[in-house]
Amino acid sequence: MSASQPPETNGAPAADVPTLLVKIFGKDRPGITAGLFDTLAAFSVDVVDIEQVVTRGRIVLCALVTEPAGVSEGELRATVHGWAESLKLQAEIISGTGDNRPRGVGRSHVTVLGNPLTSESAAAIAARITETGGNIDRIFRLAKYPVTAVEFAVSGAETEALRTALATQAAALGVDVAVMASGLGRRAQRLVVMDVDSTLIQDEVIELFAAHAGCEEQVAEVTAAAMRGELDFEQSLHARVALLAGLDASVIEKVRGEVRLTPGARTLIRTLKRLGYQVGVVSGGFTQVTDDLKERLGLDFAQANTLEIVDGKLTGRVTGEIVDRAGKARLLRRFAAEAGLPLNQTVAIGDGANDLDMLNAAGLGVAFNAKPVVREAAHTAVNVPFLDTVLYLLGITREEVEAADALDS
Ligand SMILES: [Mg+2]
Repeated sequence: MSASQPPETNGAPAADVPTLLVKIFGKDRPGITAGLFDTLAAFSVDVVDIEQVVTRGRIVLCALVTEPAGVSEGELRATVHGWAESLKLQAEIISGTGDNRPRGVGRSHVTVLGNPLTSESAAAIAARITETGGNIDRIFRLAKYPVTAVEFAVSGAETEALRTALATQAAALGVDVAVMASGLGRRAQRLVVMDVDSTLIQDEVIELFAAHAGCEEQVAEVTAAAMRGELDFEQSLHARVALLAGLDASVIEKVRGEVRLTPGARTLIRTLKRLGYQVGVVSGGFTQVTDDLKERLGLDFAQANTLEIVDGKLTGRVTGEIVDRAGKARLLRRFAAEAGLPLNQTVAIGDGANDLDMLNAAGLGVAFNAKPVVREAAHTAVNVPFLDTVLYLLGITREEVEAADALDS
């Protein structure tokens, strides 16, 4: 090894070198961190690690430092305690050796959404993490509104094993849990592709059209038959669109005006766009509505089926490539290729069985207020009716969202 190369420990103290853990606890106020390190500076110690949290106005500040050079440890202890007492803080100084224990192989981020988050849920989630061999390294709150969201940084467990163990537990507790592997991919730019009906919007677009054609009941019957497995998606699409034959094309404008966005949809899209993410929609519904949504919401991609219009009337047919279950997954791949991103940097969000291929093809598949069959097959599920909670799964905090909004207003 040449002299310019760092030692194997990367500058951290070797396991047998004495170190001091200094822990400060008490009422938070400006200047505590500066004050502690000012006090320690008199002893020429080096900082190995610092962790600090403030919860409801109370600070816990931990500093791991090398032992003092040239003076006794007792002198350092007396000085730090004296400083802490002058500020009515509690100090604890623990002698030991080396740095933090190396973290176990396998790192994951576990996001828990609760509305509310009960202590029973927190206990059960933590217990399952431990049983899977994981150690909780850090916990912090991502959001208190519209749900309570906390993130656990876990090491020492396989991401897939954690996901399986926690998915079962989450369903039993009625909380939403997302498990994602840590790493640079988590910070990379991404493509988010959403289903439209009952995901981006609260409505089913075909039903809005059916209401204008006076055939809501027949459309509902076909939908029910498809759900019973008597018709596949394409058959049910053709059967339902056929019921719209003869409808004046002017209803398209009315239906566009009737579409209700899901709460949090605008916040989700606005925040993703600010982060430089690309956002798209794929729908088994119709381009006559999704193109309008693309325009209104500033989306990068939109694809759906197209209602055929001849002489100002709907013909009851669709034209072009059919967007069905396989089509949605194909479009996710196409959008990713156009965005220049690998599939593992994609996030897909959907509620229906026809979203499953897309959810499974994506790096992260989120079942959004989905039917049990979809929920069970997806990587993760969100069962609160706020689309912006998906941001928390990506590690974005409510505070960051609000700070960005405030800058723009
Ligand atoms: Mg849907």
